[in-house]
Amino acid sequence: MRTHLYLRLVWIVALVFSGEVGADDYARVLLYHNVSDSTPALTSVTPEKFEQHLNYLELEGFSVLPLTELLHAIGSGISLPDRSIAISFDDAYLSVYEQAFPLLKSRGWPFSVFVSSDAVDFGYGSVMTWSELAELQDYGAEIGGHSASHMHLLRHLDNETEDEWRNRMAGDIDRGNNRIEEQLGISPRLFAYPYGEHSEETRDLVNKRGLYGLAQQSGAIGQLTDFAQIPRYPMAQSFAGMERFALVVNSRPLPVTEIDGGSLIRMVGEPSGEISFSLLLGDYQITQIACFSSDGQQLRIKRTGAQVRVALPDFVAGRNKINCTAPAMPRLGSNSESGVFYWFSEQWIVKHANGDWVAE
Ligand SMILES: [Zn+2]
Repeated sequence: MRTHLYLRLVWIVALVFSGEVGADDYARVLLYHNVSDSTPALTSVTPEKFEQHLNYLELEGFSVLPLTELLHAIGSGISLPDRSIAISFDDAYLSVYEQAFPLLKSRGWPFSVFVSSDAVDFGYGSVMTWSELAELQDYGAEIGGHSASHMHLLRHLDNETEDEWRNRMAGDIDRGNNRIEEQLGISPRLFAYPYGEHSEETRDLVNKRGLYGLAQQSGAIGQLTDFAQIPRYPMAQSFAGMERFALVVNSRPLPVTEIDGGSLIRMVGEPSGEISFSLLLGDYQITQIACFSSDGQQLRIKRTGAQVRVALPDFVAGRNKINCTAPAMPRLGSNSESGVFYWFSEQWIVKHANGDWVAE
């Protein structure tokens, strides 16, 4: 518990100083799964790469903050320290306890772990035990919910009514959170959607429970962020290089409002149509806004003043994302802002043309 108090003190000192040194009203969250050489590359970074990430944050003077406090500050208009960031891990893998925890502990940095309770209760060898999770909690890590079963929340069973589906989803979210409360004595305030998949209905379930909903689409967090779909930057071996890492940890939220056409369930073969949104003015170059599909294809956009319409690429079965970025305004007599991008991302969950979900 002493470490926990120490971490809170770090946070309070950081807040006090934030009034004087480059206070920000935005931040970013990193999302890791495994930190290991021997787990699937798609959801892993090696311990060496993870340490490189931490070294970068340390050398560049980032403030690594507890996620709930960071979100509370942004939601309440409280200034954050310059270069604020939070670190999170989904699925409570043992590799996080064995590899990531010592590296974070040696720096005294907070982090969050999202737990699907069935995996812990069933004693899967790849996942932490409740006592290991309690040890992280004693250190000052925050434990969040990730459903009990880690099922795809959006998927209906055959012949299931909307009400039956909603009750089943609510039951799975609550059962997971209740197990965390029974085992660790805290009621989680954070919930990460399994696979990062969410819809209006699941966001509603999360909102009604007073939880923060953590997603997996990229982007920084700011005043306009919907706290039922908080973006996080996924980190995996294939895109965890230092160039991208520097880009995402220095990103800022593109101030987007009035989003129309995003975050929906769609089907292969449907006309993909477009997404539209309005931009608020900010310290970024609005004329340079560009949007890309997840495979890097630049998308056609039409901007009229602050109004943007983006032609969506053909949908493919599974999770489809687009990223929109705009470079920061150049600073007079300085290039210190070079490489800083304002960022926004949206996601669509797409079924096969015959209505089936993607096997996963
Ligand atoms: Zn997960």
